[in-house]
Amino acid sequence: MRILITGAAGFLGSHLSDRLLADGHEVVGMDNFITGNPGNIAHLMGNEKFSFYKHDVSNYIFIPGKVDAVMHFASPASPNPQSPSGYFNLPIQTMKVGALGTHNCLGVAKANKARFLLASTSEIYGDPLVHPQTEDYTGNVDPAGPRAVYDEAKRFAESITMAYHRYHGVDTRIVRIFNTYGPRMDLEDGRALPNLLKQALLDQPLTVYGEGKQTRSFCYVDDLVDGIVRLLYSDEHLPVNIGNQHEISLLEFAEAINKITGNKAGITYVKDARSVRDPQQRRPDITRARTILQWEPKVSLEEGIAKTIPYFKAKLGL
Ligand code: NAD
Ligand code: UDP
Repeated sequence: MRILITGAAGFLGSHLSDRLLADGHEVVGMDNFITGNPGNIAHLMGNEKFSFYKHDVSNYIFIPGKVDAVMHFASPASPNPQSPSGYFNLPIQTMKVGALGTHNCLGVAKANKARFLLASTSEIYGDPLVHPQTEDYTGNVDPAGPRAVYDEAKRFAESITMAYHRYHGVDTRIVRIFNTYGPRMDLEDGRALPNLLKQALLDQPLTVYGEGKQTRSFCYVDDLVDGIVRLLYSDEHLPVNIGNQHEISLLEFAEAINKITGNKAGITYVKDARSVRDPQQRRPDITRARTILQWEPKVSLEEGIAKTIPYFKAKLGL
């Protein structure tokens, strides 16, 4: 297939590009670098099966030649208000790429009779009242809250994707991605793994927000990409959760990072670091992914962090 990947210069988009090229496909990458990094795809330049367009997908998209699949990954993704690349500081761009960008990408898929896959998120469940989260849970999101610029844009993106499927017959898929980590994450984007691993490698205390009782389930990027590619190859049109089921508190997560890295500086608790409601618990129910895609994650947290450390050390000049 010839596959358009938006957000190709980002963390997930670049790993997805690698995997699809390895599977023998041709990849057309598109990105405006608003939160991504040309360095993430530098190794693909010169690959005759990879081409790249610098473009804001919230504007009309023109791709010469036929495409067989469109994978829409472009969006700011960090919820950290302290980070310039967090979506709190890019609120309009975030809403536009979720709404207008998704519309444009669906238009490309429709015109090409191509498959379409939307990168949605566990954030559509908001601060969930159902645990673990199943795909039929409709979520707990404040549409007027500051976090809504991301959550509601993704919820709209899912709705317009289903509308194109039901009304225009576009061959769509929706993946709800849960917290994922690995090499090529932006060390400065303020998400939990980059913040904590960077601090640990610099022998600093790890900043645990609040009391660290909030939970997440962290998935290693190779596992996630494998689940997404299986979904692309499947015929499933309804949303599918992809993520790791190993749920831990942020305090346990920080302690694990200190143990793996041998950091002796301990932990510091930061009150009110997230000015808005931080989801208190998050774990995917992956029954649908197991049944439909025969997928489940394989990489343990210890293995995944060990695989991520060399990239962080190189970026930190260690
Ligand atoms: P990222 O910031 O590393 O990558 C996003 C990429 O999209 C960046 O390269 C950015 O420059 C690009 N982009 C943003 N707006 C654009 C626009 N208007 N036009 C063109 N390019 C644009 O983030 P990521 O972690 O790789 O996330 C990728 C996708 O996966 C996002 O849609 C995100 O919502 C979703 N997601 C990620 C996670 C996670 O844990 N990483 C979890 C849930 C959902
Ligand atoms: N977090 C933390 N210390 C940090 C960064 C994040 O304790 O230095 C917490 C944050 O409050 C949240 C969790 O880690 O509860 C995951 O945050 P992340 O930004 O990775 O993404 P989220 O899951 O909130 O979308």
